[in-house]
Amino acid sequence: MTAVQPKSDTITVHNPADGTIAGSVSVDGPDAVAAKARELRLFQPEWEAIGPRGRKKWMMKWQEWILDNSDHLTDVLMSETGKSRGDASLEALGVADYINYWAGHAEEFLADKHPTPHTALYRVKKLTTVYRPYPLVGIIEPWNFPLALLGLDVVPALAAGAAVLLKPSEVTPLSAVEFVRGWTEAGAPPVLGLATGYGATGASVIDNADYVHFTGSTATGRKVGVACAEQLKPFSLELGGKDPAIVLADADVDRAANGVAWGGMFNAGQVCVSIERVYVEAPIYDEFVAKLTENVRKLQQGSETDPGFTYDVGAMATGAQRDIVARHVDEATAAGARVLTGGKPTGQGTFFEPTVLADVTADMSCISEETFGPTLPVVKVADEDEAVRLANDSQYGLSATVWTGDTGRGERVARRLECGAVNINDALTNLFCPGLPMGGWKSSGIGYRSGGASGLIKFCRQQAITAPRLPTQKSELLWYSSSKKQARIALAAMRAFAGHGLRRFGIKG
Ligand code: NAD
Repeated sequence: MTAVQPKSDTITVHNPADGTIAGSVSVDGPDAVAAKARELRLFQPEWEAIGPRGRKKWMMKWQEWILDNSDHLTDVLMSETGKSRGDASLEALGVADYINYWAGHAEEFLADKHPTPHTALYRVKKLTTVYRPYPLVGIIEPWNFPLALLGLDVVPALAAGAAVLLKPSEVTPLSAVEFVRGWTEAGAPPVLGLATGYGATGASVIDNADYVHFTGSTATGRKVGVACAEQLKPFSLELGGKDPAIVLADADVDRAANGVAWGGMFNAGQVCVSIERVYVEAPIYDEFVAKLTENVRKLQQGSETDPGFTYDVGAMATGAQRDIVARHVDEATAAGARVLTGGKPTGQGTFFEPTVLADVTADMSCISEETFGPTLPVVKVADEDEAVRLANDSQYGLSATVWTGDTGRGERVARRLECGAVNINDALTNLFCPGLPMGGWKSSGIGYRSGGASGLIKFCRQQAITAPRLPTQKSELLWYSSSKKQARIALAAMRAFAGHGLRRFGIKG
C-alpha cells in the first residue's frame, strides 16, 4: 500500500502545551518495517506454544514494570500530548487493569470448544474448535490516548498468542516507545515490536501483518480497509464518532449537567466515545443549560509543572485539531448559535477554552462533523422521539448517553439508538468494561474490540478438528435419539453414505 510520507528520517515531538521539544523517533521505511516483522515472526511460535499460562507470567511482570513506572509514563504522556495530569495519570493504570483482565482470562477464553453435533449422525465424532493466533498482528493507533489504547488493543493481541507490530501516531510516539521498553525490561520474549513514522509506515505495517487492527479517523480507516481487502487480510476498524447525549425531562438535572460536562470535557474533548452534541427536552432545557454552563465555566485549564496539582482541562494534541474546534465554533456563531462560555483559543499553546454553545441547529458543522475538542453544543428538542431521530441522524454510530430518572426508559431509548454503546446516566463507562463489546456502527467502524472472549478470538484463526470418539472403532457407528425425526435424518444419511466406505452401522434408540 502507498501513502504519502514527509521526507525526513526523524520525527521531532513537541509538547503542544508550550512548544518545547519532548523527544524524537526515527521514521521507519518499508525495509525497516519488513525486517522488524521478520524478527517478530521468528519468536511468535514459541510465544504461542507456551500457552495462556506461560504468557500470563510475562504479562504480569510487564504489569509490575508499568505500575512501578506509572509516574514516568504519565510525564512522558503529558510531554507529548499536553494533557492535564489528571487525564494523563489514568492511562498507565488503565493498561495495568487491562493486562489483569486479558492475561487473567486468556486460558478460559481460548480453551478449545466442543460443540454438540447438530444431528445424531455425528455423535460418533469428537468435534473441536481450536483458536490459533494470527502470527503477526499489526496495530495502528491515533494520538488521543497514546498509552490507554495500547491496553485496549496490544494487550489482548499478545494474550491471544500473536506477535504484535505496533505503529503509534507520528504525533505521540513517545509513550509507545516506553510501553515497548517496559516489555523488554520485564524480560519478556521479543514478540512486541515498534514501527514509528507517518502514514507510509502504517501502510508498511499493513503489508507485513497477517491481521490489522486500526484505530483512527474514518477517512484513514477507509484507506486501511481498501489496502487490507486488496491483500485479503482480515482487519478491524475503530473510527470517528459524533456521540449524542439525550437529556430527558425526567432526568436529575444536577446529575445530568455534571455528567455531560465530564463526558464532554474529559481529555479536552478528544475522546471517541465522549459527548459531542446534546439534545435536551424542552421542559428542562433552560435549567440544564444554566447548570451545564456553570459547571464548564468553573473548569480550570492549563499545563502543570507541580506534580501534586492537576488542571481539569489540558491542551489539544495538535494545532490542526485546535483549528478544527475553532472553525466549528466560529461557523456555529456565524449561523446564530450563542457562546455561553469559552468559545476561542486561549492564545497559549494549543489550548481551546471549554465551551458551551446554545441555540444550535442540526445543519451546523458542530453537529454534523466530528469536533473532537472541548465543546458542548446544546439543542432543544420537543420530546424523546425528536431526540432519538436527531441523535440517529449522523453518519457516525459510536456511542451515546441517555439521562433520565427512569433507567427502564433509558434502556428502551438505548435500543432505539443506532450506535455501538449507550451509557445511561453516565459517560464513557463501557470503555472501562472489557467484558462488553466496544465498536462503531455505520461510519464509526467495522468489528469490535473487547467483548469478553470475542476480544481475544478476533486475533485468532479458528480451526475445526474432527476425530473418531472410539479409538478401537473398526467401522462407523451411528446413534440416534428416540425422536422419529432424528431417526429419519440418520437413516437417510446412512443410505447416502453407503457408497462411501460406510460398511456397517448400528442404531440405538
Ligand atoms: P488518523 O486517521 O489521522 O491516524 C491514525 C493512524 O493512522 C496514525 O498512526 C497514522 O500515522 C496512521 N495512518 C495514516 N495514514 C495511513 C495509511 N494510509 N495507512 C496506514 N496507516 C495510516 O487519526 P488521528 O487524527 O491520529 O486520530 C483521531 C481520530 O481517531 C478521530 O477521528 C477519533 O474519533 C478516532 N479514534 C477512534 C477511536 C475508536 O475507538 N473508535 C479511538 C480513538 C480515536
